[in-house]
Amino acid sequence: MAKTVFKIDINGAPEKQSVKTHNRWHPDIPMVETFKPGSEFRVECYDWTGGQIKNDDSANDVRDVDLTKVHYLSGPFGVEGAEPGDLMVVDILDIGPIEGSEWGFNGLFDKNNGGGFLTEHYPHAVKTCWDFHGVYTTSRHIPKVRFPGLVHPGLIGCLPDHKLLAEANRREAALVATNPNRVPPLAALPYADTALMGQMTGGGRDKAAKEGWRTVPPREHGGNCDIKNLSRGSRCYFPVYVKGGGLSMGDIHFSQGDGEITFCGAIEMAGWIDIGVGLIKGGMAKYGIINPIFKPSPIDPHFDDYLIFEGISVDEHTGEQYYLDAHVAYRRACLNAIEYLKKFGYSGEQAYSILGTAPVEGRIAGIVDIPNVCATVAIPTKIFEFDINPSSTGPTKQVSGADVARAG
Ligand code: ZN
Repeated sequence: MAKTVFKIDINGAPEKQSVKTHNRWHPDIPMVETFKPGSEFRVECYDWTGGQIKNDDSANDVRDVDLTKVHYLSGPFGVEGAEPGDLMVVDILDIGPIEGSEWGFNGLFDKNNGGGFLTEHYPHAVKTCWDFHGVYTTSRHIPKVRFPGLVHPGLIGCLPDHKLLAEANRREAALVATNPNRVPPLAALPYADTALMGQMTGGGRDKAAKEGWRTVPPREHGGNCDIKNLSRGSRCYFPVYVKGGGLSMGDIHFSQGDGEITFCGAIEMAGWIDIGVGLIKGGMAKYGIINPIFKPSPIDPHFDDYLIFEGISVDEHTGEQYYLDAHVAYRRACLNAIEYLKKFGYSGEQAYSILGTAPVEGRIAGIVDIPNVCATVAIPTKIFEFDINPSSTGPTKQVSGADVARAG
């Protein structure tokens, strides 16, 4: 077994730990440890909220979550010889839950605290809790659904350099300035008050906390990409921007549907990741790489039957025609899938949570046929304990007696 180089205590506050997490990206955060290429090591990670969400039947914690504290990241780790312009080769060798914490959560954020993909339709906080049974998961809040996890880190990447840091801060501030009072906001700008900066200290730490990136979006370095297929067995190639690289990770998901549409998010869990590292010197220029690339796992769960819902870029409320808008089209596909699942007795929130947690496949089918994008969401039919296919007899109510946890 790989040596654990970053240990957490899920019973204590992350802020109080001796090995410091970080929840901002900044070039000057010191490496926790530096490894030779070819090394393998184990990294423990908090769930993305650092333990703010509990395994219970109230969604008050989801409603009240402090989103300025996320994500709690483990790292950064250096690779000997890594220099700007290289590619860090990262093998995700294995992933699992922290012993004694074999559960995860999914939530819909309140519109006034985070929101989500369908926040206009589902503006209130709800939560579902998921138990792990080896590779499988079930939820007491969503009956008759069971599937194997496609476990992955939602968030992984290397530290940015000062130039990229400043550029992204500039462009995100410019976006927010177009509508500064929007709820939810257009972007999450730097915020020093709740910044955790790893092992940084002193005046340098305070300056970095004011300009460090929030961890919400993916950027050129990777970060919060929420790619479900970046799973155990994957090999990733990350652009290196600073000496040593500075690989950090967190936000482990037991499973997630494409798009992570509920925002909070997938099935979120605390866990460990076994990592192997290598280097391709000068790899960014050699391969023309700006954003990370990766190879999927050879051991993904296998589904051979799907029911696929289409959506087009027409607004569901106003009937307004959008021009090749993939966001609107994917939203319509998801809403169509939710309406369908409701016919079997699921609440809208349960159906929405299924799309956020189960390994559904999101696709852009066509993005050139003016004026409509066709987006699809494919649901593996075998995750249900009953037949969801259309038939001449029509749907029968399959689900009753349990619903999502709501806020009081
Ligand atoms: Zn997540």
